[in-house]
Order: sequence, then structure tokens, then C-alpha cells
Amino acid sequence: VVKITFTPIRRSEETVGLITVLQDVTEENKLDRQRKEFVANVSHELRTPLTTIKSYLEALDEGGAMEDPELAKRFLRVTRQESERMTRLIHDLLQLSRLDAQKVRFNRQPVAIEEILSDAVERFSISAEQKNIDISFRFNDHLPKIYGDRDQLDQVLDNLISNAVKYTPEERSITVSARRRSDGFVVVAVSDRGIGIPQKDLALIFERFYRVDKARSRNMGGTGLGLAIAREIIEAHGGSIDIDSRYGWGTTVHFTLPPYVPEVIR
Ligand code: ADP
Repeated sequence: VVKITFTPIRRSEETVGLITVLQDVTEENKLDRQRKEFVANVSHELRTPLTTIKSYLEALDEGGAMEDPELAKRFLRVTRQESERMTRLIHDLLQLSRLDAQKVRFNRQPVAIEEILSDAVERFSISAEQKNIDISFRFNDHLPKIYGDRDQLDQVLDNLISNAVKYTPEERSITVSARRRSDGFVVVAVSDRGIGIPQKDLALIFERFYRVDKARSRNMGGTGLGLAIAREIIEAHGGSIDIDSRYGWGTTVHFTLPPYVPEVIR
């Protein structure tokens, strides 16, 4: 996309020339479009639960649902779930905008990645058990320490493991593993035998609000921001993240983290 501006050159009253400027605004236009799309998405994502809450409250208030205690309970449960989802959405949006503005002060320390991973697996053991999902953790000995912000990395693992649990049917398995790559980086993999992601969606899956199945994600309480947040955090740590998946077969998310190098030898 090219923007053309003409500026006349005048001497006294006479126009003696024309300055023509050609500007490539492709990137600017793209950013502008992305920003507009993002705002539209946010509005839509917030309006959807609000509409549900409003209609259920109206039904309770005016529709006589209050007289039926069972029905009333169900309606209240829905409004509560929807408001919880809005809270999660706003939390995720704030987190993303702080990461964008580089306002998150990373409190990085040398940490043992196996500790972070085994704690994360532990946090999900109950929700996995409820679906009869076997969740295991494997790692090689002699993993180097990494230089990371514990809270932020916990957030990454919560996002990845909660996806694995959400998108894996009952009685299947999830594996979390870590190994040291030849260049010293630690490679973490969160792997599931779940529903998988179609090939055509894979390239877009880290985009904000991109979801394979919007209805399914919403039903599962998803915000569509989990992977985008995970990517921001990993990249801020000097690592990278990617996803591998076969539709109907399973998904693996890999991320890397650079090893901690003590000050004395840096
Ligand atoms: P959500 O809150 O919708 O889960 P995410 O950003 O975490 O948002 O993930 C984006 C989309 O990627 C999900 O809606 C889902 O379609 C797909 N996805 C993510 N992880 C998995 C997985 N382990 N298995 C299958 N699909 C997944």
C-alpha cells in the first residue's frame, strides 16, 4: 500500500515545482487493522457474557424462575460462571497489555525448572483425575538451572497444562517433559493425546482470540488469550515457543529457555 503526497513549491505567486513523496504504509495499515480488530474482539468477548448474565437475571426477576428453586439455582450458577469468565478475561487482557507496554517487571532468579514443572503437574492432578486423565512428568538428570521469573513461568505452565486438560477427552494421557538441548537450552514439552488442532489453524493459534472452535473454548471457560500470553512471557525470557498437532490425535507445545549463566563467567 502506497501513500502519495504532493507539495507544491511556490516562488512568489507562481508554482514552480511539485514535491512528490511516495510512502510505503503497508505495515502501518496492518497495525492499524490489527488494533481495530483487537478492540472489536475485546468488545465482543465482553458483551457475550454480559448479555447472558442480563438475560438470566431478567428471567429470574420477571420470568418467575425464582418460584422454582431448582431452576433459580441453575440460573444463578450460569450468571456466576459467566462473571467468573469476565474476570478471567479482564485479568488476561491486563496481563497482555502490561506485557505489551513492557511494564511487567520480571523478577528473574536462577531456578530449577524441574521444580517449577513438578509443582505445575501437581496443581493439575485433581482436575486431571476428575477426567481420569493420567498426567505424568519426565525429565533428564543434569538439567541446567534457568534464569526465570517463577510467577510468570507458573502462568505459562498453567495456560499450557489447562489447555491440555481442557482439550483431552477422558481416560487419555498428558505428559510434561524437560530435556537439555545440545546448545544448553532447556526444552520443555507439554504433550496430550487430545482432540488436536487442524493443520490450517496451526499457524494462527498464538494470535490473540484465535480459537479453533469458539463455542467449545467458551464452554470450557477459555478466553482465547492463553497461548498469546504464554508466547509473550517465553519470548521475554529469551526463549521460543511452538506447537505441533495432529487433528484427532494430540498436541504438543514446546518451549525453550536459555540456561542460567552465573555472573562470574558471563
Ligand atoms: P483458550 O482460552 O480458548 O483455550 P488459548 O489461547 O489457550 O485459548 O488457545 C487457543 C486455541 O487453541 C483454543 O481455543 C483451542 O482451539 C486451541 N488449543 C490450545 N491448546 C490446545 C490443545 N492442547 N489441544 C487442542 N486444541 C488446543
